[in-house]
Amino acid sequence: MELDENVHFISRCPFCSAEYDLDGARVIGEEEDATVVYVTCSKCESSIVAMVAMTGLGIVSLGLVTDMTAEDTKKFFGAKEVSGDELLSMYEILKEDNNALRALTKK
Ligand SMILES: [Zn+2]
Repeated sequence: MELDENVHFISRCPFCSAEYDLDGARVIGEEEDATVVYVTCSKCESSIVAMVAMTGLGIVSLGLVTDMTAEDTKKFFGAKEVSGDELLSMYEILKEDNNALRALTKK
């Protein structure tokens, strides 16, 4: 997946609604069917990890509010291969916890 195809899913900060400067977005993980992007808001400096995954149901994107740095996140995701199925189960788990999850866009 190309980042350009997905950036419009994560265009606004969930905290302050500022538009992200996507020049600051970093792709930290990429699979055939899923892309993980780390974005820091240039206005309030909140960070999210956004995952965009192709599933049987279409494209699912979600943002996970994080205290991790981009490097930490990379280590976390780099620890093992993340499959589309795993991303989907992660999504299922995270959507149970509204504090952890900010679903930005679902399509
Ligand atoms: Zn913000």
